[in-house]
Amino acid sequence: MSTITRFAPSPTGRLHVGNIRTALHNWMLAKKNGGSFILRIDDTDAMRSREEHVDAIRADLTWLGLDWDREERQQDRLDRYEDAFRALKAAGRIYPCYETAQELEVKRKIQLGRGLPPIYDRASFGLSAAERASKEAGGTPAHWRFLLDHGEPITWDDGIRGPQKFDPAQLSDPVIRRADGSWLYMMPSAVDDIDMGITQVLRGEDHVSNTAVQIQIFTALFAAGFAATESAAKKIPVFAHEALLVGREGKLSKRLGSLGCDAFREREIEPEAIIALLARLGTSMPVEPIADRTTLVESFDLSTFGRAPAKFDEQDLERLNAAIVHQLSYEAVRTRLPEGMDEAGWHAIRPNLANIGEANEWWQLVTGPVSQPEFTADDRAYLAAAATMLAWGGDPWQQLTHALKEATGRKGRALFLPLRQALTGMDHGPDMAELLPLIGETEARTRLERAAGG
Ligand code: GLU
Repeated sequence: MSTITRFAPSPTGRLHVGNIRTALHNWMLAKKNGGSFILRIDDTDAMRSREEHVDAIRADLTWLGLDWDREERQQDRLDRYEDAFRALKAAGRIYPCYETAQELEVKRKIQLGRGLPPIYDRASFGLSAAERASKEAGGTPAHWRFLLDHGEPITWDDGIRGPQKFDPAQLSDPVIRRADGSWLYMMPSAVDDIDMGITQVLRGEDHVSNTAVQIQIFTALFAAGFAATESAAKKIPVFAHEALLVGREGKLSKRLGSLGCDAFREREIEPEAIIALLARLGTSMPVEPIADRTTLVESFDLSTFGRAPAKFDEQDLERLNAAIVHQLSYEAVRTRLPEGMDEAGWHAIRPNLANIGEANEWWQLVTGPVSQPEFTADDRAYLAAAATMLAWGGDPWQQLTHALKEATGRKGRALFLPLRQALTGMDHGPDMAELLPLIGETEARTRLERAAGG
C-alpha cells in the first residue's frame, strides 16, 4: 500500500513556521516512500475561513517548493459528512444535546472548582424522547455529540511518541456538529482520512487527544458499514505526533505564531534555508546547510524525532541562509541579481553574502562609485606606483601585487590594504583576484590614480 499523507490547514489565517514544518514533514514522508501528498483545506468553519487565505496557503507552499499531488476542500464534501453522520446516528453513536454555551461553562467551572477534570457529564444523553421533544418544541435546537465507548482503553503505537494509551472516560464526548448544522473539525477529518486513503497522519502533539477520539470515530464508522469511496481498506492510519516548536528561550512564542513566508521573503531568507532547518529541527540529526532536497528526503526518519520541544532560533536560520546562499548557482539566482552582474560577478561576491539582497551593495564595488578613505602621503605614492604597474592579461591582481612587492618591499597588510581601499572603498570584501577583472583595467587605474591624488 503506498503512502498517502496530508497537510490540512484551516484557512483562517496565514501559514506560520509551525504549520510549515508540519507540511514539510508530511511532504517528505510521502516523497521518501514514493507516495502522494494531499493538500486538504479544512474549511468547514465558513465564518472564519477566507478564500484569500486559501490562495496564500497555496502560494506559500509553492514558494517553499512543497508541491502537492491533489487538493481537497472540506466544503465540497459535505454530503459525505452527512452520510457518516447518518451511519453513526443509526448506530447509536451520536446523540443530540441541548445545553447552551453558558450552561456548559458553568458546569465546567463547578467541576474545576471541585478539583475535577472538566469532562462533559452526558446530561443530554440521558434525556428521554419526551424530554428531547419538549426541548425542541421550546425552541432549543440540538447540537450533536459523538458517544465515546468507555469499554476499553484507546491505544495506538505512535510513530514518534511510542505506545499510547488513553482512558476514554477521561475525555468529553466531542461535539461534532453545531446546532446550525455546520461541522466541527473532529468527524469530517476522520471521514476524509478514510475516503482519501490516508496511511499516515503526522501532526503536532496538540492533536494527541483528538487522535484518541478519532480512533474511536474510525472504528465506529467502519463498524457502521461506512466505507471509503476510493479504497475498500478499512484501516486506521498510522499516527505520529511531533513535539511543538518553541522560541529560542524554550517557551511557546507568540512570535512563532505569526512568523511566516512573508516575513521570510522580506528578510531574503531562501526557501532552502527554511527547509534545511525545519527538516531536522527536533530530530537527532544535525541541522546542516543542505540545499539538495533529495538528501534531506532520504535522511528523513520519524524515529530520529525527539519528544522534547524543538527550538526554533531565527539566528540559526540566518546562518543557515548564508551558508545556503554560498552554494547557490548563478542559474538559480540570476533573475534576482543586480543588472549586469554575470556569473563571474556572482562567484566573486557570493561568499560575502548573508542574503541575496546584499548582492546589490557588493556589486557597487564593481560598478562604482566607491568612496575612498583619506590616504597618507606614503600610501598615496604607493598607489600612484600601483596605477602605473597595473597590467592586464593573465591574473592582474597576482601580477600587480607581485610587482609592487618587488618594487616597494611592502608585504602583508601594507601591501594589500591600501589597494583594496583604493579599489573598493572598503577594508574587507570579496577576493580581490576575482574582483579586479570585474572592475576592469580603465576603471581600476582611474580609482588608483584618484586615491593617489592624481
Ligand atoms: N485543520 C486542522 C489544524 O489545522 C488539521 C489537523 C489535522 O492534521 O488533522 O489543526
